[in-house]
Amino acid sequence: MLEVLNPATEEVVATVPAATPGDVDAAVARAARAQEQWAAAAPADRARLLRRFAAQVDEHLEELAQLEVREAGHVIGNARWEAGNVRDLLDFSAGGVERLNGRQIPVPGGLNVTVLEPLGVVGVIAPWNFPMPIAAWGTAPALAAGNAVILKPAETTPLTALRLAELALAAGLPEGLFQVLPGEGGVAGNALVEHPGVAKIVFTGSTRVGKQIMATCADRVKRLTLELGGKSPNIVFADADVEAAALATPMSYLDNSGQDCCARTRVLVQRSVYDRFLEVVTPAIESVVVGDPSDEKTQMGPLISRAQLDRVRSYVTPGDGIHGTAPEGPGFWFPPTLLTDVDPDAPVASEEVFGPVAVVIPFEDEADAIRLANATEYGLSGSIWTRDVGRALRVSGGVRAGNLSVNSHSSVRYWTPFGGYQQSGLGRELGPDALAAFTETKNVFISTEA
Ligand code: NAD
Repeated sequence: MLEVLNPATEEVVATVPAATPGDVDAAVARAARAQEQWAAAAPADRARLLRRFAAQVDEHLEELAQLEVREAGHVIGNARWEAGNVRDLLDFSAGGVERLNGRQIPVPGGLNVTVLEPLGVVGVIAPWNFPMPIAAWGTAPALAAGNAVILKPAETTPLTALRLAELALAAGLPEGLFQVLPGEGGVAGNALVEHPGVAKIVFTGSTRVGKQIMATCADRVKRLTLELGGKSPNIVFADADVEAAALATPMSYLDNSGQDCCARTRVLVQRSVYDRFLEVVTPAIESVVVGDPSDEKTQMGPLISRAQLDRVRSYVTPGDGIHGTAPEGPGFWFPPTLLTDVDPDAPVASEEVFGPVAVVIPFEDEADAIRLANATEYGLSGSIWTRDVGRALRVSGGVRAGNLSVNSHSSVRYWTPFGGYQQSGLGRELGPDALAAFTETKNVFISTEA
């Protein structure tokens, strides 16, 4: 059994049975049957059912958001955004069903066409940090492209995923087409990855587990998308609106208590404005409202679990550096923290902490900023603060990361592509090509000469 705790109170919210490899076998067989029927349906019928699923999510948006607050400790405003993201992505993917077409390529002596075929059964393995949206990023386009999906949520956060599966059925999606199997990563997750009936795995989680999954998939040449860790830079040039950049900095890494793969946890500030930046950012960090995530005024909630709190504490002691305040407990609390005078190679400055902790490091010039930004094995996100358009383009060209923003910290929109360079991942989710990632391209040549 999996025990789901409210991370703000440590109260048990629910206990959920953990799937066994036998459950995975049965789910794959059910999914394969449902997928055949689904792939044969007219595009308009598939699109209609996905839109009904979106409408169900919309109707239950507040309930889903409140559930996310209880099981993941997300602040309520963010949780509503997350449920809205699921709804919008389902709608967007429904629109994609009718735009998913092959091509006709001229070839002498016949007709040559490419056909996009669904893969079959797709396994989606999700982390606990954004349980709802990340579950949907794999699921919605896979379903839209004609596949069945088995979703394994993280051990600590299965409840919103289970509710989404109920809403899919209420919307009229065929039984077995979208199944949710809560379970242990090494048991149910691994069974899904190893299963010969699962054509593709979409994994979002740590780089360590991502590498293990890639090795298992390699053995079977199984299709794979990986969305992994990050250690993203937030580069502030002297020619930027330094006050605006400093004021935006706290929530660029404290959102979701820093448990965000896109968190800008390496703040790089040009030396000539470094002191001014610290003057502005210090009170902004000290005044971040940390506490009850269901309170509309709260900006930052708890960490997900005791294990995550211990991990953060292994990097930094509460009260170090520039810091805010956090409740004592019960609950898994750590104060917002920004460390100065840190060696860029120190573990806290180079490894993904996945908590409300960032470091601020001065740099000299553009080349130095790019060098520091790229001094990482990751490459997921990053921000560049400058008023110089040429510099914005040069630096965004120089930083090796999949999602950059200029004078902004926004990274995620369901209609633009998302994913990482280097050890932040493989492949892209979301955006206009999301459905195609769940198809095989078949080329057929029909001779006119026979
Ligand atoms: P995790 O790797 O521990 O677990 C992720 C999922 O994988 C869970 O469902 C877990 O049960 C499952 N799992 C664990 N071992 C497995 C195995 N051997 N086989 C199959 N499945 C297994 O990660 P986490 O701690 O839940 O999530 C945090 C990590 O996720 C961070 O590193 C974060 O950066 C990353 N993340 C990345 C993105 C992105 O889009 N790039 C988004 C969110 C989170």
